[in-house]
Amino acid sequence: MTTLDAKLDRVLGAKTGKALESALGLVTVGDLLRHYPRRYAERGELTAVAGLELGEHATVLAKVDRVTKRTMKSRRGTIVEARITDGHRSLSCTFFNQAWREKELVPGKRGMFAGKVTAYRGQLQLAHPEYQLFDAESDVGAAAEEFAAALIPVYPAAQGLPSWSIARCVKQVLDVWDGTDDRLPAELRDRLGLTSLEGALRKIHHPKDFGEVAAAQERLKWDEALSVQLALAQLRGAETAHPAPVCEPRDDGVLTAFDQRLPFELTAGQREIGERIAADLTAPHPMNRLVQGEVGSGKTVVALRAMLQVVDSGRQAAMLAPTEVLAAQHARSLREMLGDLATAGELGAAENATRVTLLTGSLPAAQRKQAMLEAASGEAGIVVGTHALIQDKVSFADLGMVVVDEQHRFGVEQRDALRARGGDDASPHVLVMTATPIPRTVAMTVYGDLETSALRELPQGRSPISTSVVPVAEKPAWLDRAWARVREEVDAGHQVYVVCPRIGDDEETAAKGKKAKKPAVEDGDGEEPPPDESGDQRRPPVAVLDVAEQLGAGPLAGLRLGVLHGRLASDEKDAVMRGFAAGEVDVLVATTVVEVGVNVPNATVMVIMDADRFGVSQLHQLRGRVGRGSAPGLCLLVTDAMGGTTTRERLDAVASTTDGFELARLDLELRREGDILGAAQSGKKSGLKVLSLLRDEDVIAQAREEAERYIGDDPELREHPGLARMVSEVVDEERAEYLEKS
Ligand code: ADP
Ligand code: MG
Repeated sequence: MTTLDAKLDRVLGAKTGKALESALGLVTVGDLLRHYPRRYAERGELTAVAGLELGEHATVLAKVDRVTKRTMKSRRGTIVEARITDGHRSLSCTFFNQAWREKELVPGKRGMFAGKVTAYRGQLQLAHPEYQLFDAESDVGAAAEEFAAALIPVYPAAQGLPSWSIARCVKQVLDVWDGTDDRLPAELRDRLGLTSLEGALRKIHHPKDFGEVAAAQERLKWDEALSVQLALAQLRGAETAHPAPVCEPRDDGVLTAFDQRLPFELTAGQREIGERIAADLTAPHPMNRLVQGEVGSGKTVVALRAMLQVVDSGRQAAMLAPTEVLAAQHARSLREMLGDLATAGELGAAENATRVTLLTGSLPAAQRKQAMLEAASGEAGIVVGTHALIQDKVSFADLGMVVVDEQHRFGVEQRDALRARGGDDASPHVLVMTATPIPRTVAMTVYGDLETSALRELPQGRSPISTSVVPVAEKPAWLDRAWARVREEVDAGHQVYVVCPRIGDDEETAAKGKKAKKPAVEDGDGEEPPPDESGDQRRPPVAVLDVAEQLGAGPLAGLRLGVLHGRLASDEKDAVMRGFAAGEVDVLVATTVVEVGVNVPNATVMVIMDADRFGVSQLHQLRGRVGRGSAPGLCLLVTDAMGGTTTRERLDAVASTTDGFELARLDLELRREGDILGAAQSGKKSGLKVLSLLRDEDVIAQAREEAERYIGDDPELREHPGLARMVSEVVDEERAEYLEKS
């Protein structure tokens, strides 16, 4: 029996089995059959050399252009160098001590060449090249009959395991495979007109034409979309099965008092989301809601109003910020907004007043103890801190809700940790807020266990922000102009941020000397830095301490400069931030610690050094720090990336729009999807392979509906063992990853 579970080494032999496992992690027949071709080459087609990316392992269809053989002087031996071409540009392939290659690589012959793309003195090369030549006459490889097909599958390959070897393995496996039962219910397949699983798996590897490829992909997309959506629907179902504190609103509570003294009208979006949250909080199951909204869209007020409803029901709310600086700032601004409604227990407190308590690790011991007491006794209606609040031994009298600010992922594990924190086994409500806009498909897939809502309008009176790229490699004078502009702004009484990717202190240098390959880039939100396009030869990104020194001695001499980064002691950080907020510092040179939440309305310019080292959404968040007051904001993206590169395209995209949702879409187009799903999904066996978050919104939305229906009728999927298996595969993989990480 050769089923999907059969081991490859049994079917293909131990040696090949081992090669497939170590190079690509493929162990079973099912793994190999789900290792789909990346693309299909048509007969006679050549691969555009210009489209190759440095550093990738590429499979190239090309023609031999010329071949030379030299003898090496130093070591005895020969070098054969072959130039292969797509008709426009060429790539060089070098072979050491394989003189016979010269005879085989006859100019004019076509073939497939594989290797890692590198550059040497401006010439593209394939390192450790492997190849298979086609017979020049018929295009049919004598050595490889798989080239006889009209469409040649090109597989994601690895060093030592080129595409054509994988194709041969697939063929061998398909020849002995028994086929498989379909896991999708026949009713669903018929209704959607989907091919059988077996047909799809055979066709995706050996299509007669692109029509067959499309039909196979359509079916396989459904498998991916539906298994993820079923898993998420089950998760949502399980979450809502937990009891949660029911927090009824009151007419005579602190929320009502707060609303009465709000100095502005809520926007329509704030009102609408507020009502939904208010309803969620009165349900007997925990809320799991993600609110996304541009920086400055007024999420904090929304969160505060929700927290006050919880306080009104006699419970507590916790607010978690990504850093201690931000936690302190949140505590300050919540107290400011609440005024005497936040000073319960003190003289002059309002009737109904509650307490806002800051609880972080760096508080002096006595203060920290006091804060712990306030949390444990229930005196603190609102406790503000970092994630440590729910990981540590902080106890709450009755925690009703947790607000997670500026963090996109508050996963299952965190919620499990939370569950233990609520009183009487009840699971606190969770409200996650993020300024990073998330495209709908990503929201449905990666964050599919949350209900999401978006604040799309900004409150009245926000100033526009204009953004320009400062390309120092092409226009060095623009940088001088930028610093002159900073001076003008300061002369006009405004303040400026200069953000750098790196700190540049001793600790960092020491770490670099030891092992760190890349200098530590201070990470604001866990976003992956963009892929390194220029190989290993990039200079390290500029550093806060260096830039501050250079600016102070040069273009910004005489201005009051401040320095802020994550390795300052937290009271120093606090002092710097307070100084900047009070207008005692003109220019703040900082890492991305200023990315989130900081609000200084008088700051009008944001200069981002080595902007290409940041992700699109990070840049967008950073620039949201300016234009918060009445004066218009300006954001300058300084880069030495050249025009025409993807890197520059990303920056141009940021400069082209301030619509975060549009940007998120552009980002999705420009980044590889693997980066968005996170490393966990990109190279792994399962995960999304044919489903595209960019193009398959319809499939994803439809799969979500179907999943809701199946799980609604049959939460354990007892009636559909095939579907249950699809889900368990997704869940097992996630669990395995989680265990690996921890
Ligand atoms: P976010 O957390 O979404 O970045 P904030 O909640 O910090 O935004 O709000 C930014 C600023 O806008 C704050 O000063 C807040 O008081 C103000 N604000 C919030 N909602 C409104 C509104 N409806 N009208 C006017 N100003 C508002
Ligand atoms: Mg905020």
